[in-house]
Amino acid sequence: MKTLSDIDIANKIVLLRVDFNVPVDDETGQVADTSRIEATLPTITYLREHNAKVVLLAHFGRPKGEVVEKLRFKNIIPAVSKVLGTEVHYAEDCVGEVAQQAVDALPDGGVLLLENVRFHKAEKENDPEFAKQLASLGDVYVNDAFGAAHRAHASIAGIAEHLPHAAGLLMQNEVEELTKLVENPEKPVVAIIGGSKISTKMNLITSLLPKVEYLLLGGALANTVLMAQNHKVGKSLVEEELAGTVKDLLSNKLRVPVDVVVAKEIKEDAETRVVGVGAVEDDDIILDIGPDTVKMYVDSMEGANTILWNGPMGVFEMEAFAMGTYHLAKEVANSSAYSVLGGGETVSAVNKVGLEDKISFISTGGGAMLEFMEGNELPGIKALD
Ligand code: ADP
Ligand code: MG
Repeated sequence: MKTLSDIDIANKIVLLRVDFNVPVDDETGQVADTSRIEATLPTITYLREHNAKVVLLAHFGRPKGEVVEKLRFKNIIPAVSKVLGTEVHYAEDCVGEVAQQAVDALPDGGVLLLENVRFHKAEKENDPEFAKQLASLGDVYVNDAFGAAHRAHASIAGIAEHLPHAAGLLMQNEVEELTKLVENPEKPVVAIIGGSKISTKMNLITSLLPKVEYLLLGGALANTVLMAQNHKVGKSLVEEELAGTVKDLLSNKLRVPVDVVVAKEIKEDAETRVVGVGAVEDDDIILDIGPDTVKMYVDSMEGANTILWNGPMGVFEMEAFAMGTYHLAKEVANSSAYSVLGGGETVSAVNKVGLEDKISFISTGGGAMLEFMEGNELPGIKALD
């Protein structure tokens, strides 16, 4: 993978792919969390200090190949300008005359955000012609969008064939940190895996199991394992069709909840009970891990030199079901182990309790991090060779 020191960017027009797929408040349309924008600041600053013109390429939401007004980057320009501390120019398309004129008008050290690349269906198809059109706007290509590196799309993969290319500082840091974690973690390693669906994390769990001391499961995905152990899970979120496959994973290393927080409804003021996993009733919904499980997991983390965490332990978005996630977050933050965190919701849970500064490394990748950890080659990283 090439890095910024491998290419000449001074006074060049740099096409910089970033991950600006930020969460937006449904009601106000305001950017709810600017951390993805903040993460690109080092690269953008570096390029501007070298007098480059910075042309930003990014996607936003899932517009399915057509223009969706709500997903125009115009809407988040104020937030981007604020974070970058400079005026951010905007073009209403990411290719063609409109884009070219905006690039031509850009001063040295200026920043331009081109329109949502996913307004073109050719983006997701990695269409060679579209990749070429994008590439024609700049002199060099830099990719800082680690969170999108698992997609073989035109602005991530195809474009790099046409220009001198390199990873940005964020991409470089992600790859270095995660490579260390995959190839040479300081043992013992403890992994905490939670979240909603075990199907999305099955490969990760399988590839981690031989490498870890313990793998602690929580969240809805633990329900499928409880089911595989013949426990009743009531009306909980579960992937029944995977219970058979999950049975093969059961071992002393794989720790599952011994008690859980249940309610009859998923709402903030629902009446909750803590029950052993053998006592879940037919109309119960499992929504968090219980206190005995928290204690067991905390004990399991003792002595760990590396802790990897992906996926919340419960529906932490509601106070009533947040204790498991928050207790573990505190433990991980206070642990002397090297701690790595990833996953959209996991990161937001830790931000919510203000513990992000006490985590050794927080990945900006959700799906991309999972695929990297599984040992897959990501198209967006391969393209930077
Ligand atoms: P991440 O984005 O951190 O990888 P996921 O996307 O896999 O995590 O899952 C996060 C979601 O899982 C959260 O929104 C949370 O509410 C949900 N979740 C966690 N535990 C449960 C549960 N027991 N039942 C239903 N949903 C759950
Ligand atoms: Mg998620």
